[in-house]
Amino acid sequence: MSAMRILVIEDETAIADFVQRGLQAEGYAVAVASDGIEGERRALHEDVDLVILDVMLPGRDGLEVLASIRRVKPELPVVMLSARATVDDRVAGLDGGATDYVTKPFSFDELAARVRAHLRRPRQRDATTLSAAGIELDLLSRKVRRDGVELRLSAREFDLLAYFLRHPDQALSRQQILSAVWGYDFDPGTNVVEVYIRYLRRKLELPGKPAPIDTLRSVGYRLTTRS
Ligand code: CA
Repeated sequence: MSAMRILVIEDETAIADFVQRGLQAEGYAVAVASDGIEGERRALHEDVDLVILDVMLPGRDGLEVLASIRRVKPELPVVMLSARATVDDRVAGLDGGATDYVTKPFSFDELAARVRAHLRRPRQRDATTLSAAGIELDLLSRKVRRDGVELRLSAREFDLLAYFLRHPDQALSRQQILSAVWGYDFDPGTNVVEVYIRYLRRKLELPGKPAPIDTLRSVGYRLTTRS
């Protein structure tokens, strides 16, 4: 069995070395990226099982890197490291989709215990393409095809379609869609979801093939995969 792969994104060399050496001694394959841009690229494009991500980074900060990882690999465990121990930072990291949070200074044993816990959890392979109902969506290139025909979607339409493809044949309420795609935890009282569903349907339609998104009266919407 090959070693679990961990990517450490940390600009402080002393901490990066300390974490890398400790995790290698535990049998993991460890790579280090020393700025946010390199770290983001490697987290998205390389096959990694877990990311340890510092918050304060040159190039692109940890929360921005976290947001990119979550768009492409929603299941990848990410443990944030931060010297900023305030409750607000902790909440921002967890709201941004961090799996866990370790505050500097930390003991190696504390970090190693969390890494073990998150690697033990079964998760789906981090597919970078989603497909259902004849639709293929590539999360890295952001290209979308239906029955081989390339479709041009706006960024929001793309995110909306990705959300449906992650939950095929499930009834999704307007509120669920709003908070997953727009990030609102409250209803802003607009019909933004309806408007974007209409845009998306128009783009998904092909001659003789209606868009596979159904309206469920007073419930929400569903991507239907059976033909
Ligand atoms: Ca740092």
